[in-house]
Amino acid sequence: MEESTSTLHENADTKTVKSEVKEEKEDTLTVEAKYFECTLCGLKERYEYFGKEPPFQKSFILLEDCYVIEDPFLPPKQGHSLILGSNCNSCTKPICKDGNCSVYYNGSFCIKCAKISINKFPNAVQEKLNKII
Ligand SMILES: [Zn+2]
Ligand SMILES: [Zn+2]
Repeated sequence: MEESTSTLHENADTKTVKSEVKEEKEDTLTVEAKYFECTLCGLKERYEYFGKEPPFQKSFILLEDCYVIEDPFLPPKQGHSLILGSNCNSCTKPICKDGNCSVYYNGSFCIKCAKISINKFPNAVQEKLNKII
């Protein structure tokens, strides 16, 4: 039984791993990918901004902190944005703007929290909720 002499010089070529593919930078700010994921329906979408004053939305200020992207269906720099969702005012989990996931009443609430505190909502909202739940 012969053991091959294991005196191999380890990695003669010490390549430092430089294989990170540099993404082509667009002439905008370097945007790191951040993802919004709806706690209820699982909708996952990259968002560009979280807050009340999206840089690409000049015409108004949002009522609450929202996950926003620039509208992908329109040419950029036009000041159009798309709101993906926001955080539930009660449990603070991210929820999308789908009517089955959140309800807006002085802030966004996920349907789960809305269901728990349904009595605090006005009748119109309660009716809406009852259709969903
Ligand atoms: Zn959702
Ligand atoms: Zn909630």
